[in-house]
Amino acid sequence: MPELAPSRLDARLEAELQEFTAAGRRRQRRIVDSACGRTLTVDGRQRLNFASNDYLGLAGDPALAQALAAGAQAWGAGSGAAHLVSGHLAPHQALEDALAAFTGFPRALCFATGYLANLAVTPALAGRGAAVFADKLNHASLIDAMQLAKANGADVRRYPHNDLAALERLLAASPAATKLIVTDAVFSMDGDLAPLPGLFALAERHDAWLVIDDAHGFGVLGPQGRGSLAHFGLPAAPRILLMGTLGKAAGVGGAFVAGSATAIDYLLNTGRSYIFTTAAPPAMACALAASLRLIGDGDARRRQLFANIARLRDGAAGLPWRLPASPTAIQPLIVGDNQATLALAQALWERDLWVPAIRPPTVPQGSARLRISLSAAHTADDIDHLLATLKELA
Ligand code: PMP
Repeated sequence: MPELAPSRLDARLEAELQEFTAAGRRRQRRIVDSACGRTLTVDGRQRLNFASNDYLGLAGDPALAQALAAGAQAWGAGSGAAHLVSGHLAPHQALEDALAAFTGFPRALCFATGYLANLAVTPALAGRGAAVFADKLNHASLIDAMQLAKANGADVRRYPHNDLAALERLLAASPAATKLIVTDAVFSMDGDLAPLPGLFALAERHDAWLVIDDAHGFGVLGPQGRGSLAHFGLPAAPRILLMGTLGKAAGVGGAFVAGSATAIDYLLNTGRSYIFTTAAPPAMACALAASLRLIGDGDARRRQLFANIARLRDGAAGLPWRLPASPTAIQPLIVGDNQATLALAQALWERDLWVPAIRPPTVPQGSARLRISLSAAHTADDIDHLLATLKELA
């Protein structure tokens, strides 16, 4: 082997990583030695889990593991290709049909992940001559999708969080032939809801698409967990595209977009992150079909989740940190300072409570927080234990 030339590239990256460390934003992973559930085992200790998005406690449900195993026995480990080549197997189609029926839309299209689903929709619908109007606090995947649309020539605007009046002014001033309003339904770092009825009214008035990311509402909100649209009693209207992720409340992985037959067929033909990626393993679709049934029959789980949410919010009133209004499983305890937030998360960790610290740039400067993620898997005692420990640390 000839000697390899030394590279200064690594040294440059290492210097940047050191800067991340100094700024308190170096990211690292923990290795989990147990299935996702009420607790997670790390370093030989069981930690109470307030970190997962497993809102209904389905990720570790034996019925889903069984459906996954049976699916793999019947359909093999992998799909072998992208959906438009030879990777669209019968379980994928059955899942799409079930998701369309569940959400009330004519058609649904499944994606390998929610990130990929979001990355497909906005650039597919909005290129030159189109305008995109996006909430300032939208998820990173929607922001990346917006940048792709911008690269394709779309005019992109961000409106202040949930500000319908500001959005209306932007819509009215835009000469674009195609307009897209894009929003999280449940904001991922705050847990608050988008004003979907107001957004839908604006979409109707300005003949715009309304693209809704229901990653954190699907399975949790609305009758039978049908999601944020159902929560507000809004129709599965032709101008709406509803995205839902299947790795959170649904407990497995993947995502879907539901909409009119035309919109879904258009997405299938033009969504680059749909076309140019391998279809998820068909066994995942089998597990998800089982998960959809558990979600639909999951009122007891949702009752437990909402009792946990109410208990945490009642108990947090006495804490020195702000808990902004959130009717969902995501409860943000705002600490403010980055290092103080990290220290609090670390103190909880040392007491076997896993509550992630979320810092800028994921959230705005000065709003570092603990993102408490609640689940139907938690008991009232678990919530009380978290509250008591926070009081002790206050
Ligand atoms: N949208 C939102 C609002 C999210 O919170 C997430 C996941 N954190 C995604 C999209 C991406 O979904 P997935 O994890 O399936 O890629």
